Amino acid sequence: MDVQEFREFGKAAVDYIADYFQTIRDRPVLPSVQPGYLDDLLPKEAPQTGESWQDVLQDVDRIIMPGLTHWHSPNFHAYYPTAHSFPAIVGEMMSAGFGCVGLSWMASPAYTELEVAMMNWLGKMLHLPEEFLNCSEGPGGGVIQGSASEVTFVCLLAAKERKVKELRQINPELTEGDIKGKLIAYSSDQSNSSVEKAGLLGSMPMRLLPADDKGRLTASVLLDAIEKDKAQGLIPCYVVANLGTTPTCAFDDLNDLGPVCNKEQLWLHVDAAYAGTAFSCPEYRHLLNGVEYAESFNFNPHKWMLVNFDCSAMWVKDARYLVEAFNVERIYLKDNHKGLAPEYRHWQISLGRRFRALKLWFVLRMYGVEGIQKHVRNQIALAQYFESLVRSDDRFQVCTSSMGLVCFRLKGDDRLTKNLLEKVHQRRNIYVIPGQFHQRFVIRFAVCSRITERSDIDYAWQEFLSQAEEIVPCSKG
Ligand code: PLP
Repeated sequence: MDVQEFREFGKAAVDYIADYFQTIRDRPVLPSVQPGYLDDLLPKEAPQTGESWQDVLQDVDRIIMPGLTHWHSPNFHAYYPTAHSFPAIVGEMMSAGFGCVGLSWMASPAYTELEVAMMNWLGKMLHLPEEFLNCSEGPGGGVIQGSASEVTFVCLLAAKERKVKELRQINPELTEGDIKGKLIAYSSDQSNSSVEKAGLLGSMPMRLLPADDKGRLTASVLLDAIEKDKAQGLIPCYVVANLGTTPTCAFDDLNDLGPVCNKEQLWLHVDAAYAGTAFSCPEYRHLLNGVEYAESFNFNPHKWMLVNFDCSAMWVKDARYLVEAFNVERIYLKDNHKGLAPEYRHWQISLGRRFRALKLWFVLRMYGVEGIQKHVRNQIALAQYFESLVRSDDRFQVCTSSMGLVCFRLKGDDRLTKNLLEKVHQRRNIYVIPGQFHQRFVIRFAVCSRITERSDIDYAWQEFLSQAEEIVPCSKG
């Protein structure tokens, strides 16, 4: 493909995406294909000779499009939002166009330096304590990782190395193995699956402690578990607090958990993957209070902040723990930037780095902080509107409502709500997923798409109502 063809293909692809987005509201949110559908449509081997871009683009429409779940449809209400915006798409495209791999400062100074600047912009937008920022005097700083899962894992590994060092300083006769085999981590039973996975990957059992009736891990439950483990000869090491849990968007109280973690010398990591964007709004910032007790904090601009996947923002109070834990040098990696920029490869798992800061920069510049705040407030208002509709019908019960997420059910036996969800799924007009709250089966309704409007919420509610009518007919009139 030569440059001229690239221009044509690229422009046609942008047109295709623009058309897709303009028609997304009219497409059934869920595909109707069966498992294995692609196998019948694709040749069994790669073509021997290259094909035209026109043929390939046609096949995207014929083969790929029918197998897409439309995450950015206003009728998508599953999981949490995954971000999508035109500035971020163009940022991704340009990053691919430059095609550098930012494994060191010299590998592309703009990669590292824009990332440093963006993490400062973001940190200031959230009013993170100064000590977490790259621009502070101290050893703290921010970096972009691929996912919240990676962040939780990387911080667990750093916490492990810190604990080994700390204990060996006091007891030099202890071996690394003696210590590592006894380390233990904690989070609540409401934390994301990735938290438990970090424990599995890092060979540090993750105790999922019972949350209270509001979905929060409390200091007393944590302390109790720590005391029991210490009595068994185990070594408490790492705690993951949640700001915006996956099941119900519950918030742990960092001012409650933090002092216990600090006193017991545990690494406190804060996972705010979804809800973190809301801390840019003054009215929600208080939920982040107590973050000064934490060693690390993370949220995903790729969830609620309009930056396409992947872009997970992580800050640490002392990056030296990461660098010391993950620093593997080679002669071919050294360059001389006089210590004026971080070597981000030591802050992460992989050596190579994508230019994620570019799409973040585009979004921050083209939306501005106010644009992001407006987006968050709009989605919360839509969720509250949905909540009011659920509350207006006696057959339903709102179980939780927080940020852009409402969990609700039909009153009575769980089978009624399961039946409702099944019927709604079969129709494929909207997409919602199940959840659990206080051992009851609930439907999780999240406002996800950037283009969701009040009329889409009405549409979703009508879907629930029409199907509920077949399960629990309305007694009124
Ligand atoms: N933490 C929370 C609270 C989440 O809701 C999620 C995903 O929904 C994650 C972590 C995992 O995010 P990622 O896909 O970036 O690893």
